Amino acid sequence: MILDDYRAPWANQELDDLRELARTFVAKEVVPHQERWASEHQVDRDFWRTAGSAGLLCISIPEEYGGGGASFAHEAVLAEEQSRVGDDAWANMVHSAIVAHYVAAFGTEEQKQRWLPGMASGDLVGAIAMTEPGTGSDLQSIRTRARRDGDHYVIDGAKTFISNGTHCDLLIIVARTGEEDGGKGLSLIVAETEGLEGFERGRVLDKMGQHGQDTRELFFSGMQVPVGNRLGEEGRGFGQLMNQLPQERLIIAVAAAAAAAAAVRETVAYVKERQAFGQNLMSFQNTRFVLAECVADVTAARSMVDAFVPRHVAGELDAASASMAKFFCTDVQNRVADRCLQLFGGYGYMNEYPIARMFTSARVQKIYGGSNEIMKELVARSL
Ligand SMILES: Cc1cc2nc3c(=O)[nH]c(=O)nc-3n(C[C@H](O)[C@H](O)[C@H](O)COP(=O)(O)OP(=O)(O)OC[C@H]3O[C@@H](n4cnc5c(N)ncnc54)[C@H](O)[C@@H]3O)c2cc1C
Repeated sequence: MILDDYRAPWANQELDDLRELARTFVAKEVVPHQERWASEHQVDRDFWRTAGSAGLLCISIPEEYGGGGASFAHEAVLAEEQSRVGDDAWANMVHSAIVAHYVAAFGTEEQKQRWLPGMASGDLVGAIAMTEPGTGSDLQSIRTRARRDGDHYVIDGAKTFISNGTHCDLLIIVARTGEEDGGKGLSLIVAETEGLEGFERGRVLDKMGQHGQDTRELFFSGMQVPVGNRLGEEGRGFGQLMNQLPQERLIIAVAAAAAAAAAVRETVAYVKERQAFGQNLMSFQNTRFVLAECVADVTAARSMVDAFVPRHVAGELDAASASMAKFFCTDVQNRVADRCLQLFGGYGYMNEYPIARMFTSARVQKIYGGSNEIMKELVARSL
């Protein structure tokens, strides 16, 4: 009941059907490729089109732009199913729940018609480039510059840690268009990367986890992007980020709670099999207490997710609550993954065991999407 048959209070028949579809899809199209993707540091480019054909990209984008016309709850179900099988390679959250929503929220009608159908089919893969070598948490210090030259911006700068860095066809760049310091001079500009002069993909970064993800450095040197590719008004970038980041934080929280549940599920199966001192590990009181505490942690994280998902769908979730969910659920995920790994003994340290991958993948969840320290600052500011 707690682990396997759990049904969120916000579930309905449509979401149950989607869950079944997503579960079948990841079992068939993701799980068999996990090891290969991890060694190649990317998912197959065509996999994006396969996901698009299955109707799993841009589920919460309006149908008139090729999306599924559904809600954030649908994105949440898909993210949960990815976490359930420990999928840390397919950065659909970035593509569907983040990048597509910047376009949907701030794009002109022409931009939405031009980009969103391709994102929904998987012909275009989306990425967003905020972080730079010199600044991550402090977005107001972004230095990438977009200088206006006639009807183009000439963009110079460097970004790092960019998810979907290898495959991205559409890249939202946070760049400084004005002379003002701080958040005022920032704008969001969409680069269409195919054949784009001055656009260079740097090395694929060697991470401790999430090996199947194409996280890269990106460089811009005299790169020309039409002024018409800017999202919204010039100089509004920082406000646009603040507007969209809560959804990014909530989807990370959703994935984190589901990943913690998956780690416990995996561990319960293992400790019931593994023998030591003539009995299975589950019979030791320590194992039982640890797992009971982990399930309590999972339940607490899920309860927060369950409270906030419907509020977000209704457009009523405040930014501080999204930040709270992000740090709380990712802390739970990390604590649970660590404690579960311990119950596997030496096997937990072996990459061939999913718990090892769950542990290393979990770590970055406390860092990206706004570090957990920044999340606590945002919560504290609201008090
Ligand atoms: C695998 C991965 C994928 C990523 N994907 C993307 C992506 O697709 N797009 C993108 O733009 N970025 C991406 N990032 C970047 C990520 O968002 C940043 O790493 C994160 O925001 C932290 O920035 P930083 O690394 O520069 O750390 P810093 O900002 O240098 O922070 C270092 C430490 O100082 C702490 N700190 C900083 N300021 C404060 C403060 N005011 N109060 C208290 N503590 C503070 C931080 O919490 C952190 O613990 C990704 C990162 C990783 C690792």
